[in-house]
Amino acid sequence: MSADAAVKYVTEIPEDEVKRVAEWINTEEYKEKNFARQALVINPPHACQPLGAELAAHGFEGTLPFVHGSQGCASYYRSTLNRHFREPAPAVSDSMTEDGAVFGGQNNLHEALENAYTMYKPKMMAIFTSCMPEIIGDDLTAFIKNAKNKECVPADFPLPFANTPSFNGSHIHGYDAMLLSILQTLTEGKQVEGRCTGKLNLIPGFDANTGNYREYKRILKEFGIPYTLLADISETFDSPLDGTYRTYPGGTSLDEAADSVNGKATLTLGPYATAKTFTWIKDNFSGKHVSLPIPFGVVKTDALLLKLSELFGKPVPESLKAERGRAVDAITDAHQYIHGKKFALYGDPDYLMGYVSFLLEVGARPYHILCSKGTKKVEKELQALLDSSQDGKDGKIYINKDLWHMRSLLMTDPVDAMIGDTHGKFAARDANIPLFRFGFPNFDRVNLHRYPLVGYQGVINMMTTICNKFIEVRDETCEERYFEMMR
Ligand code: SF4
Repeated sequence: MSADAAVKYVTEIPEDEVKRVAEWINTEEYKEKNFARQALVINPPHACQPLGAELAAHGFEGTLPFVHGSQGCASYYRSTLNRHFREPAPAVSDSMTEDGAVFGGQNNLHEALENAYTMYKPKMMAIFTSCMPEIIGDDLTAFIKNAKNKECVPADFPLPFANTPSFNGSHIHGYDAMLLSILQTLTEGKQVEGRCTGKLNLIPGFDANTGNYREYKRILKEFGIPYTLLADISETFDSPLDGTYRTYPGGTSLDEAADSVNGKATLTLGPYATAKTFTWIKDNFSGKHVSLPIPFGVVKTDALLLKLSELFGKPVPESLKAERGRAVDAITDAHQYIHGKKFALYGDPDYLMGYVSFLLEVGARPYHILCSKGTKKVEKELQALLDSSQDGKDGKIYINKDLWHMRSLLMTDPVDAMIGDTHGKFAARDANIPLFRFGFPNFDRVNLHRYPLVGYQGVINMMTTICNKFIEVRDETCEERYFEMMR
C-alpha cells in the first residue's frame, strides 16, 4: 500500500483552492478581515501568568517553585523555561485533577507541601496558581494558614504565594505578583530603624537573559557599588556543568533579600514587569526608590550610569566611559548596514521600549510594533519614543494583537527584519526576512541568553548580530558581479 493510499482525508481540498487561499491570506482584503477578528487569538507572543511567577521564584536561594493547580500547566512552564535556557527548571505541582476541581484543592496543597518539603528540602517554597484553582476560587490564604496549623511544614517556613490567574494579564504580571509576595514574606518584621545596608537593591524585572544579570553585576562592580540583585536567575539558569547536579544553584540569598528592606536605594529596570512590586517598595523600603527603563542602547545606558553615580556619589568609572566609546565606535563602524532599515517588533512592554529606543539611536526605523498584552500607558510611552525621532515617524503601534496579525502586516507592508522571540519564526519565514531572537522564549537557537543586550556591551552585541546578518543576506542573495570581499 502506498503512503498516499494510507491517508484518508476527511475533506478533499483541490490544489487550486489551496493555492488561491495561500495567496489570498497575503492580501489587503484578508488583512482587513484578520484585523476585524474578535473572538480568537492566534500565536500570541506572551505566556501565562504562572510562568512568570516561576521565573521569579527561581531567582531566590533554595527556592522550590510550587504550582497549586494542574500538572500539565506546571509541565508547560517548566518545559518553556527548560527549552529557553537548556537547563533544568525544578518545580513541583500539587496536581489538582477532577476531585480538586469539584471539592477545592486544599487536600492536594497540604499533601504536596508535606511531600515536597521532605523530599526536596527547600529553604522556601513559592506558591502560585494555574487557571483551575482560580476559576473555582480556592482561598490560598486560608489553605496556607491551615497547612501551617497542620504542621505540613514548620511554622516559620517561608511560603510566599501569589494568585496568578492566566485568563488575565501575562507572564510579566505573574512575575510581578510572585516577586511582591516573596519580598513581603521575607522582609516582614526586618526593617530596623536607622539601619542602612549601604547597598543598592537592583530589580531587573522579567528578564530571561542571564547575560544581562551578569552585565548588571559587572557594571556595579566597576562602580564599586555594593548590591543585592533581587530575583537573580543568572546562576539558576546558567550554572557551570561540572558533573554535579544541584537542585538550587544560585539565586538571591534569603538573608540578603530580607535585609533589602533596609537598603540605601532600590532601582527597578523593568517598570512594566514590576509595577505592583515597585509601588509596594516605595511605601515599605528604606532609602531612595528609582524606576528606569531597561538599559538598551547608549542613551538608556547613560541614564542608568548617571543615576548610579548620583545615588552613590561616585563618578562614572573610566573603564565604563571607555566601554561607551567602544559602543559608539561599533555603531559608527556598522551603522551603514542598519540605517534606514525597517523593523517589525513584538514582545513585552519593557523589551519593546528598549528595542525602539536602540533602533532609533542607530538610525533604523521601528515600523510595526506589536504588544500582545499592552495598555494605553504602553502605547503612549511607545508613541512618545517614536515621536522623539524622525526615524520613528512611520512607526505604528498595535496593542493586544497577535502574531497572525503581524503576519498580515508583514505581507502587505513589508519590512527588512523582525525582532522578537521564536514564536515569530513562521511569519518571518513567510515574509522571507531575518528574525533576531532577543526576546523570550528562544527555543530554536543556542546560547543567546548568555549574550547581554543591556549596557554598552549589549549595544555592541545587538549591532553586531543585526548588521552581520544583513551582510550575510546580501552575500547569499546578490548577483555574482556584486559578490565581493569587502562589505
Ligand atoms: S493558561 Fe491556564 S490552563 Fe493554560 S497553561 Fe496557563 S495556567 Fe494552565
